[in-house]
Amino acid sequence: MTAEEATLSTLQRSAELHARARELTPGGVHSNVRLNAPSVFFERGAGAWLWDVDGRDYVDYLLGQGPNFLGHAPTRVNEAVAAEARRGSVFGAQHVLENEAGELFLDTIGWAERVRFGATGTESDQAALRLARAATGRQKFVRFAGTYHGWLDNVLVKTVDGVTGPGSRGQLAHHVADSYVLPFNDVAALDATLSAHDDIAAVIVEPVMVNNGVIPPVDGFLKHVRRLCDRHGVVLIFDEVVTGFRVALGGAAERYRVRPDLAVYGKAMAGGWPVSAVAGSAELMDLFAGDVVHAGTFNGSVPACAAVIATLGILREDPPYARLEEYGATLMETIVEVGRAHGLPLRVQGLPMAFHVSFGDPALVRDYTGLAVLDLDRYTRFSHTLADHGIWVAGRGIWYVSAAHGEKEMAATRERLYSAAADAA
Ligand code: PLP
Repeated sequence: MTAEEATLSTLQRSAELHARARELTPGGVHSNVRLNAPSVFFERGAGAWLWDVDGRDYVDYLLGQGPNFLGHAPTRVNEAVAAEARRGSVFGAQHVLENEAGELFLDTIGWAERVRFGATGTESDQAALRLARAATGRQKFVRFAGTYHGWLDNVLVKTVDGVTGPGSRGQLAHHVADSYVLPFNDVAALDATLSAHDDIAAVIVEPVMVNNGVIPPVDGFLKHVRRLCDRHGVVLIFDEVVTGFRVALGGAAERYRVRPDLAVYGKAMAGGWPVSAVAGSAELMDLFAGDVVHAGTFNGSVPACAAVIATLGILREDPPYARLEEYGATLMETIVEVGRAHGLPLRVQGLPMAFHVSFGDPALVRDYTGLAVLDLDRYTRFSHTLADHGIWVAGRGIWYVSAAHGEKEMAATRERLYSAAADAA
């Protein structure tokens, strides 16, 4: 069935499954991030495409919130996982793939001496923050308004009108005081905060603030952050859960030529499988060899290591980055062009492999408060219209491009964008 033949409201099987899901799990979803998405149930994904249970296809720019950087169901990765899993999955002890995965990982990012694998970005972010506290003997950290570092109490915050509070009901309220929350891209604010307080263990930053607006670092920002951390003996943590292996093979550290002390990875590193990592200098990381605790039943499991080895193998043998730059740049231009053709103020910003689409003034937004000038709710509604027309995207405006997007996907996207925009105009 094509986009023209059905709208979301006619997806009968999805509607039935959604009704049942609401009886089984809160809101019918297993992550709150999915609460406001169209209630479509998918049957399968392949490459850059998804198929729902009612037989509709979608060009996918959500990519599972980022992990499917090689496209859905990458054959080499999935075959490696299946083959290796025949020998077992988790031993609670060392196994033969761990060193190969570790060597490949460290050689690929290029700057770190040690790595610890985990299962989610949330937990590996916690590992990095704990290391920083242990290394410095200080308790607090600096983070930037609008960045996301997982859903746990000490990192989930919401900043409204410059005031930061808990991001969820039920959070331990005192954790809000664990961090100093500063505007992204604001070197002066960081300088002032690090000078004024001697209790700061770490600065944690999404080097490109993908989670709200896909805001790139302005020229020199990350270098200044590096310099200020050095001056104050503060551990610099790059949260590369989104940017790692995506914005360059060596992530944002390579793209912006700034070395963190620790970095956290996830999503793109394992071809759609749940693997994360924290990496850094031997001096910091080897604290985990002593009395600084980091644990996890599934850390470095057989399927996880197999997925990392196959994924990094593909990315090293046939780096997709030049293709992604071209595809993403064309797609960003196309979205603006489609908006212009239909009188919609569609605007884009970010990097070709991860960019943000919304409605409003096209000028670059530099920090979280700047997003207030955009009509994000109108975009969320438009994301449902896009789904109606066979384009699957996040309601918050982030579009991810995968190595599997090519000419066929571009042609389908262009056509579907035009029909969705005609509907929305
Ligand atoms: N850090 C960043 C930058 C992220 O975007 C995310 C998830 O979207 C996380 C951490 C948390 O990762 P996970 O959802 O795997 O726990």
